[in-house]
Amino acid sequence: MKLAIIGTGYVGLVTGTCFAEVGHDVICVDNDAAKVKMLQAGGIPIYEPKLQELVQKNVAEGRLSFTSSTAEGVEKSDVIFIAVPTPPQPDGSVDLSFIERVARDIAGAMTGYKIVVDKSTVPVKTGERVSETIKRYCKAKVEFDVVSNPEFLREGFAVDDLMKPDRVVIGVRSQRPVAAMKEIYSPFKAPIIITDIASAELIKHAANSFLALKISYINAISIVCEASGANVEQVAEGIGLDERIGRRFLNAGIGFGGSCFPKDLSAFIKISEQIGYDFRLLQEVQRINAQQMDRFVKKITDTLWVLRDKTIGVLGLAFKQNTDDVRMSPAIDLCQRLQKEGAALRVHDPKAMDKAKPLLKGATYVDDMNAVAEGCDAIVIATEWEEFKSLDLDRAQKSLSHPIMFDGRNLFDPAEMEKRGWVYKSVGR
Ligand code: NAD
Repeated sequence: MKLAIIGTGYVGLVTGTCFAEVGHDVICVDNDAAKVKMLQAGGIPIYEPKLQELVQKNVAEGRLSFTSSTAEGVEKSDVIFIAVPTPPQPDGSVDLSFIERVARDIAGAMTGYKIVVDKSTVPVKTGERVSETIKRYCKAKVEFDVVSNPEFLREGFAVDDLMKPDRVVIGVRSQRPVAAMKEIYSPFKAPIIITDIASAELIKHAANSFLALKISYINAISIVCEASGANVEQVAEGIGLDERIGRRFLNAGIGFGGSCFPKDLSAFIKISEQIGYDFRLLQEVQRINAQQMDRFVKKITDTLWVLRDKTIGVLGLAFKQNTDDVRMSPAIDLCQRLQKEGAALRVHDPKAMDKAKPLLKGATYVDDMNAVAEGCDAIVIATEWEEFKSLDLDRAQKSLSHPIMFDGRNLFDPAEMEKRGWVYKSVGR
């Protein structure tokens, strides 16, 4: 099928590429001219495993192209996906101006029946607004359908998640767009759930809030573990093997961040408030998440006492492993707090250093993770990159003034670290 994706970011670029990979003709649109130029020249603006090869292959085979013109995207396609940002506003509600802008642009370019699919994460009832906007701004007065098709990809695993989704949710108001939507997704061989638009919109917020809740739950358990001498890893293993619960998202640490969970959670709380429900359960999830970072910073200051004139090595800047995304990263938040306390920082991340530099100023960026500890008073693990587990501990031990590690992601074994002579503080163990 002929598809356009408006917004070529983490979601739009990966979705468009995977649609092309299964045989659709895809045109990706972005209003960031520099990004489009880079993509047209064969560059990739984000790091996502397997993405570069897939983009190059599909461009070479003529199924994937890039433009900065929404009109061109609309003209050349039957189904138009919206994948633009839906950032938070200071009160927690969602800034829908990007969606509204794109709805007007699409409307202005439509000359025949189109299916307009919202893939951005939006508050319930946004589909209705998009529909009204298109109707209002479409001079050609052609027919169209609006569909809600939330995206569940995880950054760092986005290609795998899109090629093999757990489920595809398609929210519609009439049956007309259903066949085309099923045709788009049939190559992915995933269960397809057809719902009304409001339910599809709610599924996304409800799913992300539940995952955030699971993280805060295990983080709360980690506090009880610390106070009682239990080990949160063992507890997570013990409850996670129950199929009704599951082990994933039960990793205690310094809390969740990123461009989705914090904003989707506050958006869901705000939406609920607007429709008359005080979602206190989710407010508590937020509170536990904030408290988890406070507790970790306190662990550092309790041990090192004064941070002024001390140097701390930090491993990890991305909000989680396998990505270069630093938006709302707990690692960056942690670094900024340490800087505020007066510490100098030596930092390393396998992929996120370029994107971190504008956010985290005044730190020394170190290319080799094994060189981070040089001249430091302590080392901190802030992101769960798998490769940090192979840190040269002997070298780090010699480089540090005293071997102290604060492991915010529980990557090392406490007994083993103690045996090696480290002062080792992790979370919930
Ligand atoms: P992003 O910032 O990486 O990408 C958005 C892109 O849209 C940018 O390249 C921007 O230049 C472009 N854009 C903005 N306005 C435009 C316009 N008027 N016309 C054309 N292009 C425009 O954002 P993202 O992370 O891909 O997220 C997009 C949406 O998907 C959000 O609603 C987000 O909540 C949701 N989502 C994100 C993820 C994720 O893991 N990143 C997962 C699921 C859902």
